[in-house]
Amino acid sequence: MRPINRRPGPQILDFENYRDAFPELQSRLGPYCSYCERRIPTQLAVEHIQPKGLKRYEHLKGRWDNFLLGCVNCNGTKTDKDVALDKVFLPDRDNTFFAFTYTKDGQVLPSPNLNDDARRRIALHTLALTGLDKGPNEVMDENGKIVAIDRYNQRKEIWLVALESKEDLRDAPTPQMKRQIVRTAQGHGFFSIWMEAFADDAEMRRMLIDGFDRNGEFYGFPGTARDCFDPTGQPVSPRPHNGLDGGSKV
Ligand SMILES: [Zn+2]
Repeated sequence: MRPINRRPGPQILDFENYRDAFPELQSRLGPYCSYCERRIPTQLAVEHIQPKGLKRYEHLKGRWDNFLLGCVNCNGTKTDKDVALDKVFLPDRDNTFFAFTYTKDGQVLPSPNLNDDARRRIALHTLALTGLDKGPNEVMDENGKIVAIDRYNQRKEIWLVALESKEDLRDAPTPQMKRQIVRTAQGHGFFSIWMEAFADDAEMRRMLIDGFDRNGEFYGFPGTARDCFDPTGQPVSPRPHNGLDGGSKV
């Protein structure tokens, strides 16, 4: 799960209508679901970390620090379940890249980095909350080929694209190829899968984390929390505290 930096809100007061925060959130974080990391060009929505549907969090309905971006699958699983900030890893305040691992067969699992039961439990709870622990929902097309309609199979697909890109880079290790890979990653989403695929390539990892500017345009994943990584692209844990409640658990 990509750790993000939402930065201070664009206005001092809470939003009257939380939907008004959407353009600014998307501009700062890119069109990616904050949980499953998919690129969602349409139908991405303002996601309330602590659900607006629960009475006790009603006062956070328009609060910038309570906003992420969520897709219908993650939102639809999370719904109005209670979220205690010390019981979930959150991409705006924890180093969620450190906390999870992505396997080539499409799974998201608690990372082996977590060497204590307490934090492993938090990781499992986070995956269950958002449905990222769900397996494939097998649907075949008319030729018997699996159609990737679920997040699991979409992760598997992107793994193939990322590994193929890595092979292309091996064959043609040029700056142009490196930039093209970052553009491809940006176009597909799934930051963590790209980072895992290039785990042994510090330069590519830094490019995925930082993005790059070219002809006045930014390419990459906007809003990635750079302070969650060291100069070689390895995750730093715990995340430096950024003043948000319950953060830096990992
Ligand atoms: Zn999602």
